[in-house]
Amino acid sequence: MILVTGGAGYIGSHTNKALNKAGYDTVVLDNLAKGYESFVKWGEFVNGDIGSYDDLKNLFNLYDIEGVIHFAAFSSVAESVEHPAMYLKNNYKNTLNLLKVMREFSIENFIFSSTAAVYGNPKKTPISENHELKPINPYGQSKFIVEQALEREKAKENFNYVSLRYFNAAGADFDLEIGELHEPETHLIPLILDAAIGKRNSISIYGDDYNTPDGTCIRDYIHVNDLADAHIKSYEYLLKNKESNIFNLGNGNGFSVKEVIDTCKRITNVDFNVEIAPRRDGDPDTLIADFKKINDTLNWQTEYDLDTIVESAWNWHKKINRD
Ligand code: UDP
Repeated sequence: MILVTGGAGYIGSHTNKALNKAGYDTVVLDNLAKGYESFVKWGEFVNGDIGSYDDLKNLFNLYDIEGVIHFAAFSSVAESVEHPAMYLKNNYKNTLNLLKVMREFSIENFIFSSTAAVYGNPKKTPISENHELKPINPYGQSKFIVEQALEREKAKENFNYVSLRYFNAAGADFDLEIGELHEPETHLIPLILDAAIGKRNSISIYGDDYNTPDGTCIRDYIHVNDLADAHIKSYEYLLKNKESNIFNLGNGNGFSVKEVIDTCKRITNVDFNVEIAPRRDGDPDTLIADFKKINDTLNWQTEYDLDTIVESAWNWHKKINRD
């Protein structure tokens, strides 16, 4: 059985669904701080905390766990700047606790949700995995120090991990059983769709004076199902090869904020207001993944383009705002 921590959250729930569809048995552990119990429609659910030794011990005694896919974490850059200690505790210390109990139970396989934020301001783009790691916010730092802890854990033997550095996750399950739902929402595509559906008066572009062709930030958007698929392939790689690795998860295509807004206008067929606002702290101008390593190693590449991402996100957005 696979333990999916944070499986009630956005990326965790989509991966949990994909794992079950692929024939794996899962148990989700989530404290519902950010997740939704209604997103756990597959496998078992345990309401508990990765920071609690007892919760983990009870779970590992109850279920025969072969590997852990670890999503449980806070993931907002802005929130991390306001509450760095909370990010250190939740993302780093709690992960150390999880690793400690895994070792007690001799669980050797670990997939970690890392982030492109470990790179900080890229010196070169597209970014490959050997780019220097210089996170510029507490969120990126919390993930970076977990990656260092994983290297130490690996050195003790009988432990292997794959760390997946996500670029910009977006889109929703095509069956609309689950999707993106953050409170408060800070991510670009759901905020644009709020403007399209009339929940907000406008969308603000955070800065149009960046060093990019149209002056707005460029990001590499990746459909959450493509992310889910990469987790399954990485897990199978761990079981087969018993070796650790680190991969970028992106598609190598960048879109500017203006281009994403134009795509949303076209797909929703709604012409909403767009305003130029000041830059947001900590935003590099361009983040695009070099995904050659995972493509070569796992034969993985993205299947879904920006139109499909926005279409699925829009269908989900209409559903949750109707219900
Ligand atoms: N962004 C924006 N307006 C918003 C939200 C985001 O212009 O209301 C920009 C943000 O500055 C960044 C890009 O959209 O350049 C993606 O931001 P998001 O928060 O979705 O993801 P991040 O890149 O921070 O992980």
